[in-house]
Amino acid sequence: MTAARLLIIGPQGSGKGTQGVRVAEAFGIPAVSTGDVFRANVKEGTELGIKVKAIIDAGDLVPDELTGEIVRDRLAQDDAAGGFLLDGYPRNLGQVADLDAFLDARGEPLTAVIELVVPREESIQRLSLRATEQGRADDNAESIAKRLAIYESETAPILDIYRERGIVDEVDGVGSLDDVFERITAALAARGITVS
Ligand code: ADP
Repeated sequence: MTAARLLIIGPQGSGKGTQGVRVAEAFGIPAVSTGDVFRANVKEGTELGIKVKAIIDAGDLVPDELTGEIVRDRLAQDDAAGGFLLDGYPRNLGQVADLDAFLDARGEPLTAVIELVVPREESIQRLSLRATEQGRADDNAESIAKRLAIYESETAPILDIYRERGIVDEVDGVGSLDDVFERITAALAARGITVS
């Protein structure tokens, strides 16, 4: 059996947050979403929240140092010892290098990267629905456009690095929640990553 040290990647509106939580629950590992951590801090008005609110609302990336520290702290907690699922981190080349250094020092590299593939049109449609349903401050036209552009220019290229390592599974993200979930778990099972 291979440990579940997972990363889920996909454009905004691809459903990676929803699927990430489901996969993490199925494997009994924590889902670590940097976006969720930031949003929770903004909501609670913490020092971190105050620092990042304007950045997030504008759709820009929070500085790598700050984000890296949050992820390292979270992965150092006991419940992440047996595996974890990262959602939203790493998102650029610098963050890949930071994460590699941290995981290599533990001798625990990522074992699979799930790439959720969703056509641009579909993800924009889902985002506007989410804007109505959840009222996220960063789901406005300007911020969405910026985040999608950053995804194309900074996040998509990191997939090449993981592809070279042979750990990327491309999963079709169009379909029902159950269908997409089945596809993800089937791809992981093919790598020997199964629920113990
Ligand atoms: P989305 O994928 O829809 O942009 P996320 O919840 O993943 O939503 O992220 C929301 C925001 O949080 C980002 O636009 C960015 O400002 C910040 N953020 C999340 N993850 C990172 C990261 N790894 N590096 C820098 N900023 C991040």
